[in-house]
Amino acid sequence: MSENTAPNAGTAPEATPVEKRDFIRQIVREDLASGKHTAIKTRFPPEPNGYLHIGHAKSICLNFGIAGEFSGVCNLRFDDTNPAREDPEYVAAIQDDVRWLGFEWNELRHASDYFDAYYLGAQKLIRDGKAYVCDLSAEEVRAYRGSLTEPGRESPYRNRSVEENLDLFARMRAGEFADGSRTLRAKIDMASGNINLRDPAIYRIKHVEHQNTGNAWPIYPMYDYAHALGDALEGITHSLCTLEFEDHRPLYDWCVDNVDFANSPELTQPLVDKGLPREAAKPRQIEFSRLNINYTVMSKRKLMALVTENLVDGWDDPRMPTLQGLRRRGYSPAAMRLFAERVGISKQNSLIDFSVLEGALREDLDSAAARRMAVVEPLKFVLTNLAEGHEESLSFANHPKDESFGSRQVPFGRELWIEREDFAEVPPKGWKRLVPGGEIRLRGAGIARVDEVIKDDAGNVVELRGWLDPESRPGMEGANRKVKGTIHWVSAQHAVAAEIRLYDRLFSVENPDDEADGKTYRDYLNPESRKVVTGYVEPAAASAAPETSFQFERTGYFVADRYDHRADRPVFNRSVTLRDIWASK
Ligand code: ATP
Ligand code: MG
Repeated sequence: MSENTAPNAGTAPEATPVEKRDFIRQIVREDLASGKHTAIKTRFPPEPNGYLHIGHAKSICLNFGIAGEFSGVCNLRFDDTNPAREDPEYVAAIQDDVRWLGFEWNELRHASDYFDAYYLGAQKLIRDGKAYVCDLSAEEVRAYRGSLTEPGRESPYRNRSVEENLDLFARMRAGEFADGSRTLRAKIDMASGNINLRDPAIYRIKHVEHQNTGNAWPIYPMYDYAHALGDALEGITHSLCTLEFEDHRPLYDWCVDNVDFANSPELTQPLVDKGLPREAAKPRQIEFSRLNINYTVMSKRKLMALVTENLVDGWDDPRMPTLQGLRRRGYSPAAMRLFAERVGISKQNSLIDFSVLEGALREDLDSAAARRMAVVEPLKFVLTNLAEGHEESLSFANHPKDESFGSRQVPFGRELWIEREDFAEVPPKGWKRLVPGGEIRLRGAGIARVDEVIKDDAGNVVELRGWLDPESRPGMEGANRKVKGTIHWVSAQHAVAAEIRLYDRLFSVENPDDEADGKTYRDYLNPESRKVVTGYVEPAAASAAPETSFQFERTGYFVADRYDHRADRPVFNRSVTLRDIWASK
């Protein structure tokens, strides 16, 4: 593929940023330039059997992103062909998540919208001698299928007459037969080197209520058949999926070509009856590598087990790689899109380092989050030279690099909370913070000194008492003398006690999917992944709306919890530390 094909839609290849030059966008560009398509249409096809995770975000950003960049459209389609595992709860959450990521679908469709057309398509295959009803059990089908080295054997039911097949299929549809007793199979090639083409099942019997069609259907189409035909019915031009479907592509094409909706208007009449248009474009399946991230599990089955076994606090636990979890953790849609862009699109399977995800969040929040002061592990510091009840209000810029954030008033008083770890009675080498008798700059308030260390009976430091140099306020002459460190603080009288949830990676090993030595991902949970402490935040943090992100100075990025945060009882989740603390582990 050359980089220098004719420009189209006003996008000169030279002007395309590096991250937009992946091979799929290149194909789309060429298809538009050659006139193969005048407009492009993609779809995001989740199965509503769980919550979306960050792998889906990659697919969403790709499908909706490409549609947006090339003036096309993207549908959201629920691939609801397996009713046993599906739930309206997931249907609602998935829509929520796609919108949260910043995308709006052209049309919301369901595979189940097409059940009538799929059924007519299957009848057509039967009439054309390209599908048959097979009575082999699942076990027998497996035995007949052969292996990578051996061809399969033909089913004894393969040569049933068209009439018999039509009759049996109609009776399958009427609910006459038991689950698993028969299937409808495509008649392709039992000797094919591609096992997917060895007469794959396209319909199975399942007397299960469907979340969208209720009890209307006792038979359900198989994924490969339904997916290919769904794309064709919607006029999808580029059907983007992950690499494991590469071997399914010949079957995808077989279904599209042999059912041939484009030239069989009688098959698409059910759509027209529902007020949906007839589409003609022939979809092309293109595969890309799925997203894998270390220190993470991504399979829906494992995520489901974490929830049902109470190893996390639900699908939206801030440690989960679900979009609901990441959102609650404080990931912004912009950070998610930035991450997807950085990861890029290719056919190479790779493992992305967790730090890439955290890096995208830091980068977004550095410019997007206002600064606040909060103390996570408080130690009282009393400035004895200020009058009892001393109270004043200091002005602080909300962002060091962006004046548009404006400023706020921060109350200051005689008694402060400072971070326990900013004081050391016996300082280690290179220590730059508070020591007995030493000076420190209190951020925005002047230079203070510790004169007295108060301990409890057990010898724990419980309070510091000291002195604030009244001539050392920022801007005063006395502020210029050299003091080693600057620490943050909050006024003990004004600060609001807050529940602070210190989250970290859910797994402590790079590859939690590793099952060596009989272990499972459950054995690799990071016991330090959630610590809850009571800290203090300045009033302007407490009063924030849920889901507001801040940088708590020197501490990290935090978000007001989406569900639990209240102004009088603030709850903050740590989204990410300021620096990568795992790099040195
Ligand atoms: P399952 O097959 O267990 O249902 P799934 O992850 O394939 O899991 P789907 O709901 O079918 O779930 O996925 C919807 C879309 O998201 C598909 O097009 C799929 O290829 C894509 N997708 C899923 N996981 C990833 C991933 N890790 N990286 C990129 N795309 C993904
Ligand atoms: Mg799937």
